[in-house]
This record gives sequence, structure tokens and C-alpha cells, in this order.
Amino acid sequence: MIYDAIVVGAGPSGSKTAELLAASGKDVLLLEEHQNIGNPVQCTGIDSHRILTLSEAPKSIVMNKVRKARFYSQDENYLELESKKAVYVIDRHKLDEEIAKRAKKAGAEILTSTKFLNFNRKTSYLEIKTNKGVFKSKLLVGADGPNSTVAKTANIKLPREYVIGYQETIKHDFSDNIVELWFGSKITPDFFAWVVPENKQWARVGLAAKKNVVHYFKKFVEMRFDQKFEKKDILGGVIRYGLIKDSMADNILLVGDAASQVKPYSGGGIIYGLIGAKFAASACLKCLNKNRFDYNFLKENYDNEWKNKLAPAIKRGMVLHRSLHIIPDWLMSFGITISKPFSPILNNLDMDLLFD
Ligand SMILES: Cc1cc2nc3c(=O)[nH]c(=O)nc-3n(C[C@H](O)[C@H](O)[C@H](O)COP(=O)(O)OP(=O)(O)OC[C@H]3O[C@@H](n4cnc5c(N)ncnc54)[C@H](O)[C@@H]3O)c2cc1C
Repeated sequence: MIYDAIVVGAGPSGSKTAELLAASGKDVLLLEEHQNIGNPVQCTGIDSHRILTLSEAPKSIVMNKVRKARFYSQDENYLELESKKAVYVIDRHKLDEEIAKRAKKAGAEILTSTKFLNFNRKTSYLEIKTNKGVFKSKLLVGADGPNSTVAKTANIKLPREYVIGYQETIKHDFSDNIVELWFGSKITPDFFAWVVPENKQWARVGLAAKKNVVHYFKKFVEMRFDQKFEKKDILGGVIRYGLIKDSMADNILLVGDAASQVKPYSGGGIIYGLIGAKFAASACLKCLNKNRFDYNFLKENYDNEWKNKLAPAIKRGMVLHRSLHIIPDWLMSFGITISKPFSPILNNLDMDLLFD
């Protein structure tokens, strides 16, 4: 059989793309290299209110709701903002499972422990090679994360900038209504550190940097927590950011982290990836209806379309990311001090920078 689309990667972007295509009656195969969907988790799981609408996952994925954010400079000066709309701390494992369940219910076939290796072009389809055999498909969707093998095998260039994130879930006393974000060259020269409470006892504490991330993390927790603590759920992963030049090739589309549909200032990619999935599914349907699978068709009907929506936000995020990391530490602290009177204006800023 020749599938309409094979989607590589059962993260949120891949499963949502598969769900939408299967719901439109297309033959879809979703491949996941791991045995269990949503495991391992490489995520803090903090997202805006958009997460429930976009994912259509049940409310039970929400573990905590937070309204306040404190932006710290490394001298412990901080600006506190409070949002009317809560930010959600989610069970990321459950989110992935729930979207994959929806994909299966819609009719997508799912194969776990199945790793995409490469592909061959045939006249009217692609031959997809995996560790479990060869499959045929008209379209290949790479939803395989920031180091996408689909992108590599299709010679699609990914943005070059990336950081490595590292996180531990730490037991301590926390306010369950405050997220902390710490900035400064000693904390990490390239990104920020975060403390995201699951509840009053446990918080996801992490940091990202271009290199030596564990070294910076250890120094940060020594500074932030003055005593020994229990920890669990240690994780790490790549965050790639920037506007990709082409997110497609003949018969091939990238979506989610694979297409760097990621907020450059925070590394968050679930919301943009779920938005990307809608564009990816819609473009695949157009390809199948018009029997057009070429670069130009996909450029017009996928790449340009999702960029109309997300590129302005990604560009705003790049400006914010660069400004936050070139300013000297004293200016960060000074900036925090002079921003305090303006907190009522800043309180309800859209954390996804979408402003829609
Ligand atoms: C430390 C850290 C913290 C983060 N915190 C947040 C946060 O708080 N909020 C947020 O929105 N985002 C966060 N992110 C980013 C978020 O995790 C990603 O944006 C999100 O997972 C992207 O979803 P995706 O479906 O595009 O890709 P992924 O979730 O990466 O899914 C890709 C899937 O493809 C599979 N795969 C890869 N290669 C193959 C292959 N060859 N064959 C078959 N399967 C394959 C993988 O196993 C994986 O399941 C964080 C990232 C890191 C590293």
C-alpha cells in the first residue's frame, strides 16, 4: 500500500498533524522511535492558555496554574508581573499520550519503537526506510524534533543557533503561584534559568546554555537553594531557534521543532508546533487533492502560509532573545528597577508574542 502521508515523530506536532490528516480520511502512518509515546520527556511543560484549545487534550494534563512571574537579575533584584490569564504547568508525558490517542482514534496507524532512517525517491512516491522495514508514502512529514533526521536526509538546512537545556525537579519550599526567571552572565551567558512550581513542594528547575550547561546549573542551584534537596526527573535536550529558510522539499514538510517553530526568547515550542501542525495538515490535504507534491507548491501552500502566522512572532522573539543576552549585568538590574513602575502595562503581555 502507498500511504498518503508518513509522519515521523509522535511528539505534539507530529501526532496533531497525523490526527488532522486521518480525520480528513487520509491514510496516515505515524512513526515513533521510542517504545512509549511521551517518554522520555524533554520539557518544562509551561505553556499559555492556548495549550488546551490547540491540543484538544483534557484539562487533566494541567498540574498547576501560575499567575505571577518574577524576572531576576543575578544580584537578586526582580520585577514581578501578574497576568489575568493563568499560565499552565502541564504533564508533558500525558499531553503527548493524549494527542497520539486522538490521532489513533481519528484513524492514524501508529508504530512505536520504529526509527526513520532515510528515504529513496520513486516516480510517484517515497520509499521510507526504518529499522522495522520499508514503507511507501506520497508525503513525508518530519516532526522529529530539533535535530531532525528527515531534514538531514532531505538536505534541508536547519537554523544554526541552538542551546542545550538541562532540568531537575527539586523538592523545596516554593510558592505554587510564582514562576522565576533568572538572567545574568554568571547564571548563564546565553539564556536564562527557570524555577517552575508543580506545587508548593516540587519545582522544575532548569537552565539553558550553549555549553557547560551542567556546570552553570550546579552553580545556579547552589546560589538559589542554600540547603540540600531531593531531586527527580533529570532531563536535557536541544532547543534550536531562528527562522528556517525552507521548511519543505519535494514531497517533504517539516513541522514543530524540526522546522524551528519555537519561541527564540524562551525555547518554548509546543504552542507554535501545534499551530504549525494545522498548517502542515492543511498543506498535505492540498497536495493530495491537487496531486502536486513539488517544492514550489509546498513553498506557497505550507512554508509561506505558516510563516505568515508565526514568522513575525519568531522575529520578535529573536530581537528579545538577542537584547536580553547582549546587555551587561548592571544594565539588566537597572532595567528591572526602572521597569517596576510600568508593571501594570507589562502585566498581561502575550507570552507567545502572537498578539492575536
Ligand atoms: C529543557 C527543555 C525545556 C523545555 N520547556 C518547554 C516549555 O516549558 N514549554 C514549551 O512549549 N516547550 C518547551 N520546550 C520545547 C519543547 O519540548 C518542544 O518545542 C516540543 O517538544 C516540540 O514538539 P515536537 O512535536 O515538534 O517535537 P518533539 O517533542 O521533540 O518530538 C519529536 C519526536 O520524534 C521522535 N523521533 C526523533 N527522531 C526520530 C526518528 N528518526 N524516527 C522516529 N521517531 C523519531 C522523538 O522520539 C520524539 O518523540 C523545552 C525543551 C527543552 C529541551
